[in-house]
Amino acid sequence: MTRQAVSAGLERFFVRHRDQLRWLHMAMFGGFLAIILVPVFLPAPVGKTSPLSDYVSFANYALWGLWFPLVFLSVIFSGRSWCGVLCPMGAAAEWANGIGPQRAIPAWLRWEGAPVVSFLIITILGQTLGVRDHASGAAELFGGTMGVAVLTGFFYGRKKRAWCRHACPIGLLLGVFSRLGAVDFKPRFLLPGGEGYSERGVCPTMIDLPRKSETRHCIECFRCVNPQAKGGIHLELRRPGREIEDIRDHHANPVEVWFLFLATGIALGGFLWLVLPQFDLARQMVGEWAIDHDWLWLGEPAPAWLVSHHPDEREVFLWLDFTMITGFMLACSAVMAALLGGLTSVSSWLALKVGGDAGFGRGFTELGYQYAPVAMVSLVVGLGGKLFEPLGTDIGHAIKGSLFLLGLVWSIWLGDRILARQGITVKRRWLPLLPGLLGSLAVGLAWAPAIFGL
Ligand code: SF4
Ligand code: SF4
Repeated sequence: MTRQAVSAGLERFFVRHRDQLRWLHMAMFGGFLAIILVPVFLPAPVGKTSPLSDYVSFANYALWGLWFPLVFLSVIFSGRSWCGVLCPMGAAAEWANGIGPQRAIPAWLRWEGAPVVSFLIITILGQTLGVRDHASGAAELFGGTMGVAVLTGFFYGRKKRAWCRHACPIGLLLGVFSRLGAVDFKPRFLLPGGEGYSERGVCPTMIDLPRKSETRHCIECFRCVNPQAKGGIHLELRRPGREIEDIRDHHANPVEVWFLFLATGIALGGFLWLVLPQFDLARQMVGEWAIDHDWLWLGEPAPAWLVSHHPDEREVFLWLDFTMITGFMLACSAVMAALLGGLTSVSSWLALKVGGDAGFGRGFTELGYQYAPVAMVSLVVGLGGKLFEPLGTDIGHAIKGSLFLLGLVWSIWLGDRILARQGITVKRRWLPLLPGLLGSLAVGLAWAPAIFGL
């Protein structure tokens, strides 16, 4: 079957059934409550349990072993299909919009940094609440986010998903990675002027459809698709990574690139503080310093809505823990952004020297996208490593290592293609490619404890 035939078949199927998606969303909402809320009312598992023998372990595995890694991996094969087809949060926000006052979307919500801040807050809160280990933490984080999503949807936008476009903590990350994906919704006749923002029209994420040139904001709801129409939007399957290879035609954006760097660092920080003995050492030193300087409040327990508070499990985080975890994660984020930003600057400068036509700033933004595969794979195998646990340690490490290698090679390939589009000849590309290779290796090295179990 040809690629066109498959995309035409998918189009027909989803257009025919798009009105039925609400039933799926309702079922997913029920599943969300069952996974997030029910475990709070059940006793915590004692001793060694498995997802098959204990419901709380099952819910934990469903969340961190299945949902988290698979949502990100699925982006490569089907773009943001999770958002449009399955996500109960986006659907609930849109439902609330239908019964709300539908006020104009305020400027603070439309600010480009809003999803970046939202991602940083949720990722840090996830760690301080211990969402991976405590059902109550997961309930607070996901339930709270659902509440804010519904409120945002209720108040803002007119038949739109303001939450998904502007504030969802994982929306921007899924958006960046969806540029790697095999699915694109393209206008049959693209109008010039570059992708814009429009609250008119059917698109729930405010894409100016005739000028749509990037996949980032498309949640694949199929509302703009009409297979019978000669114009309009149609679904197209493409080689994964194609959009980033030709990123200069697809609205390359520096905010997105800096977000990619920051997100890679903060996710890494969220993993490393748990495994590095140096973190405990630093915590002890700061604690002693606080006592010596009468900063005794650092030794007080922080509020239960902010940190893990489980006296029955002998875990009550202090203000010291909150400060240390937050500071460490933000520091990791800043260091990773400085490292990848610095290396990308060198790449861009070298690209100019060997004949690149992009200029420094534009070259920087284009080349920053080369890290998307290695960042995504690191996130999946680092924070979603639970997926591989049932396969055993050796096989798990082998798969994680292979995935990382694949991400690394893919990143280098993308770097090469981006440089080719900048007009640099094959023989001279190796030089601006080198900093990119170093950056990707640095990401892998930083995730080594998670990927290779070192
Ligand atoms: S953007 Fe966020 S809330 Fe909206 S559909 Fe996607 S994951 Fe769900
Ligand atoms: S571009 Fe089309 S498929 Fe994508 S979110 Fe907008 S209306 Fe839905």
